[in-house]
Amino acid sequence: MTKVYKFGGAAVKDADGIRNLTRIVLSENERLLVVVSAIGKTTNELEQIVASAWEGRLEESLSLLEILKVKHYKIIDDLLPVSSAQLCKAETDKIFLQTDYLLRHSQDFASFNAFYDQVVSVGELLSTTIVSFAIAEREADVRLFNASRIVRTDAQFRSANVDMQATAVNVKREMSDFTRVAVIQGFIGGADGALRTTLGREGSDYSAALFANLLNADSLTIWKDVPGILNADPKRFPQAVLIPRMRYEDAIELSYSGAQVIHPKTIRPLQNKNIPLYVKPFTDKNASGSVICGQVTEALAVPVYIYRENQVLVTVRDTDFGFALEESLSKVFSAIARLHLQVSLVQNSAITITVSVTDNQQVDEFIGLLQNEGYRVTYNRQVALITVLGKITPQAIDKVIDNKDVILSQTTRNSQKFVVKNEILKQVAPSIRIDKPCRMRIRY
Ligand code: ASP
Ligand code: MG
Repeated sequence: MTKVYKFGGAAVKDADGIRNLTRIVLSENERLLVVVSAIGKTTNELEQIVASAWEGRLEESLSLLEILKVKHYKIIDDLLPVSSAQLCKAETDKIFLQTDYLLRHSQDFASFNAFYDQVVSVGELLSTTIVSFAIAEREADVRLFNASRIVRTDAQFRSANVDMQATAVNVKREMSDFTRVAVIQGFIGGADGALRTTLGREGSDYSAALFANLLNADSLTIWKDVPGILNADPKRFPQAVLIPRMRYEDAIELSYSGAQVIHPKTIRPLQNKNIPLYVKPFTDKNASGSVICGQVTEALAVPVYIYRENQVLVTVRDTDFGFALEESLSKVFSAIARLHLQVSLVQNSAITITVSVTDNQQVDEFIGLLQNEGYRVTYNRQVALITVLGKITPQAIDKVIDNKDVILSQTTRNSQKFVVKNEILKQVAPSIRIDKPCRMRIRY
């Protein structure tokens, strides 16, 4: 019997969090793989460090690294007795030294993304080192693995693709002999030439699912700072309710629609081997939480509301009369694939193709590219996509739409989607985005 537990940054944000993790891990008697993300907001901090080094502000990046080091040291001191704290610091020092070296040699990297992955992956190397020391205080049989030597990926830095066959061989060779507890990094992998890669932000859930699949685990539990999977973000809907059981298909729909609770790529590797996924609160290890598994056959009994902010709604229209939809679709989608845009909705009419994509720098390139192809492109920035899944009733729709300015709506077999204006709550940088006048209004 093997289980996989995954703990995110919030679960390990300080010494108390790691102590709590240790309690949860030690209350489990099975063979257990513990997958861990970087501590707290370390990944964001490393992103800043990477950016300043790449832009030539070495001193700034080194002093930010120093701050990160102090933070990690404080956790080590709060967590471990003096003698093991010293040993733990000796290990983390090696990682900080290597990072220092990397920052001073940013120019040696062929691309920003390659450099980014070498530095940003450090967050998980640090957290897992500390977590394994903490567990070792109370359980002698603990191993620490290095995911960059086990999870084999291509060299598409920042969103590397996992080679499942090669990874399976590595898992078998490296991991079959751990007997009680092992700790490993989420989010990171390794490509040819000993370069580290990352699987995309928030990718640790996905890593945990891959390990569960390759170890033929009996279950995966993701420990979170929420009671389980709720039918809405409780920050928006204080009356949100827990969904105790869910089918794999519903979980896939939910995460692809933008629910933050689990990473979208997590479900498939589990579904393929019929491994149940538990989502539980790390604040209450005995809570039942939510379970997603093959035994669940019933549809969702409540409506589920998912908000995806920071979207751009782009409509492409051919300027001449010979609009060949098939040809245009293929042009639009090959541009999307090339620029790695994240598409959340697609709709077409006889003469237009409309997509909602997550806003980032590539979106400008996308628009420019299509304009160069001779298309007329209109778009709305700073829109949000609201998806309603599960038990959809008129009241459920009213609840999310009330007076909002809906510019597009779409009904599918099991969902209703609305693109709405001015639904920005967070994380949109107003200085860089200026809305073009809206020329488009589509209501189907
Ligand atoms: N630490 C990484 C991130 O914050 C991966 C993860 O947390 O899943 O994106
Ligand atoms: Mg994280």
